[in-house]
Amino acid sequence: MATIYLNKQNFFSNLDKISKINPNILAVIKDNAYGHGIFSISKLLREYGIRKVCVRNIDEANLVREFEEILIFNPPTNRGAINFSYAINSLTQLKKNRHPYIHLKIDTGFRRNGILEEELDEALEIIKEKEFELRGVFSHFCCADEFGCDTFIQYDKFLQIKEKIEKFCKEYNIKCPYFHIANSAALSKLPDTLDFVRPGIAMYGGIEGYKPVMSLVADVVSTRELDSKEGCGYNKTFMSEKKIKISTIDVGYADGIPYFTHGCKLKETEALGKISMDYMIVKGEHKKVVVFDDIKEFVKNFNTITYDILVKMSPRIKRKIVESNNGYSIKQPDKINT
Ligand SMILES: *Cc1c(COP(=O)(O)O)cnc(C)c1O
Repeated sequence: MATIYLNKQNFFSNLDKISKINPNILAVIKDNAYGHGIFSISKLLREYGIRKVCVRNIDEANLVREFEEILIFNPPTNRGAINFSYAINSLTQLKKNRHPYIHLKIDTGFRRNGILEEELDEALEIIKEKEFELRGVFSHFCCADEFGCDTFIQYDKFLQIKEKIEKFCKEYNIKCPYFHIANSAALSKLPDTLDFVRPGIAMYGGIEGYKPVMSLVADVVSTRELDSKEGCGYNKTFMSEKKIKISTIDVGYADGIPYFTHGCKLKETEALGKISMDYMIVKGEHKKVVVFDDIKEFVKNFNTITYDILVKMSPRIKRKIVESNNGYSIKQPDKINT
C-alpha cells in the first residue's frame, strides 16, 4: 500500500525558520493541511507549541477543536460553534454576522475578499454597536512570490488601516485587535511582519528555502520484462528500444498525481507512458518506489504549482509521521525473482 511519510525533522526545521522571523504563527492548515493530513499536521503543530491555526471552513474547524484559536477563512453565515474566530470577507457579511469573535479582512489590492478602505468607518461602527470582539484584522498579498512593488503598496495600505483602527479602538476603549498579513512568500520581504504571520506552503516546504515534508512511497504490485520495440500502458505511448525490466506501482491519478501521457521523473527512477487511475508503470525492478520526496522537484514534471499537487493527494493514502527520511529506509534488492 502506498504511504505518505511526513518528515517531522523537516517540518520543525521550517517552523524554526519561520519562528526566527516571527514566533507568533497562525498556522494555515486549510484543505487537509495542504494535503498532508489535518490530524497529523495538527499533532505536530501542537507538539511544536503552536496554538493558533487557520482553516477553510467550519467542518475543518470542528476537526481541530483542541487549538486555542481557530480562524475560519470562509465561515458559514448562520451561527456556528461559539468559540471559533470568523473571517469577515465583506461588509454585507459583517451586517449579517452573528458570530461574536471576528477577524476583519481588508482588501488591500488582491480584489478577492475583504472590506474596502472606504467601508472601514461603517464596519467599525457595526463592530462597536453589535459588540463583536474584533480579535484580528488581516489582509492577503496577491504578488508576494514575485519581484515588484505590489506587495509594498498593499503593505503600506494595510499599515494606514492599522493606524486608523488603533485610533478607533483607543477612542472607544475597545481592545485592540492583532494585525496579520504575511503569507509564506512575504515572510522574508517585509520590514516588519506585524503581530502574527500566516504561513502555509513554507511550513510544508513547497517553496525555496524550506525543507520538504511530504514523501510519497508506493509499493510494487508486479514486475515484468518488456521486449525491445514493445510498448506499455494505455495507447503504448512508451516504446522500449531495448529489453528492460518494468514494475507496476500502486498509485495513479486517482490518488492525486497529475495526469501525464509521456512519463515523468520520480525520485530514483521514471514513470513510463501514461499514468493509469490506480497504477503507474516504472522503469526497473524495485521493492518500493519513492514517487517524490521533494515536491519542488516533482512539480517540474507538470505545468502547475507545488500547492496544487500537495493539496490533491488523496486522503485515502495513509499518513505516517517519521522522525526524518531515514524513518522509511528502502532497501532495494539486488535481484527479485519474477
Ligand atoms: C492560503 C492562505 C495563506 C497561506 O498562504 P501560503 O502562500 O501558503 O503561505 C495565508 N492567508 C490566507 C488568507 C490564505 O488563504
